[in-house]
Amino acid sequence: MKTIYKNLLSILFAASIIISTLCLGASMVSSAADAEQMEVHFIDVGQGDATLIKCGEHAMLVDTADASKGTAIQNYLKKQGIQKLDYLILTHPDADHIGGAPVIITKLEIDKVFVSNFEKDNKTYQKLIQALDNKRLKAVTPKVGAEYLLGTAKITILAPDREYDNPNDASVCFLIQNGENRFLFTGDAEEKAQEELLSGKPDLSADVYHAGHHGSRTSTTEEFLEAVKPTYAVISCGEGNSYGHPHAQTLNLFRTNGISVFRTDEQGSIVATSDGKEIVWNCSPSTTWAAGEPTGSSKSNSTKEEPKEVSEAATYICNTNTKKFHVPECASVRKMSEKNKRKVTLSRDEIIAQGYVPCRQCNP
Ligand SMILES: [Zn+2]
Ligand SMILES: [Zn+2]
Repeated sequence: MKTIYKNLLSILFAASIIISTLCLGASMVSSAADAEQMEVHFIDVGQGDATLIKCGEHAMLVDTADASKGTAIQNYLKKQGIQKLDYLILTHPDADHIGGAPVIITKLEIDKVFVSNFEKDNKTYQKLIQALDNKRLKAVTPKVGAEYLLGTAKITILAPDREYDNPNDASVCFLIQNGENRFLFTGDAEEKAQEELLSGKPDLSADVYHAGHHGSRTSTTEEFLEAVKPTYAVISCGEGNSYGHPHAQTLNLFRTNGISVFRTDEQGSIVATSDGKEIVWNCSPSTTWAAGEPTGSSKSNSTKEEPKEVSEAATYICNTNTKKFHVPECASVRKMSEKNKRKVTLSRDEIIAQGYVPCRQCNP
């Protein structure tokens, strides 16, 4: 009799745990029917990242591009009627992500500031700390697994769960879900960090993938993409950026997986609107599949990121109109109209065989 009673008690106990877990789960994720409208604005900030997410009356900003873009982002937010941010997430302390933060921190009211656990010892970083101090704001590194609400949307922190010796890998990664629509952000996390993220086997599936590290080939492996299975990828990068973002290999991976790609260097600011069930875009996906070309000389970039990418990009740039070809650094490439520009990875002889003549200025 006693054992039956004991068993009954433990069954009741287990059932109550299951029920309370279910209730908790249901209260955390609003159903598609209850979801408010969520807008994700991938702001065109040249080479860098800045994404505004609005849900109902609530707003958050993910990264702030470089220092020259702080005021432009502030104006963008102003036009969107935003005076207050529930969250400011600075994925990692590289200049193209935190440079504009002092302006935003100074001008807007902010509830919570989330940062990577990677600290830097340079002017850009010190300016951020100073701005936070002035506003008496304390930035924290959010814990992996922590959840936050933005209106009806739920943010789940995915990384970093340890320290890295490279700022990109230490990026704060998170998923934001509104109803059934999921958006994944991984900052500039590269292969190693993305692999570790995968090994924890969280549910990374997302409708929209904010392409890691500006579409660089150091992020987004096949395995990672397989886990995310996005319908759309958004690449935030600057037109003619010196790093060669986005990389041909990454674009090919998107293309062969049938993923629609949006890019700020071609389409300007991109807005995805989620009603909890469907996502609509303010523009059509890119059709160029044009890879970036690293030059190492773009003055819009003060941060030295990845010179190692130089080797695999376009060898020459052809002008389909004048039938001349140039080295990627040639001044006339910058003036060339996009529709005449063709990036090739052929040898000099192969291009000449196609009827092109070498430019007389850059002597390719
Ligand atoms: Zn970056
Ligand atoms: Zn970075």
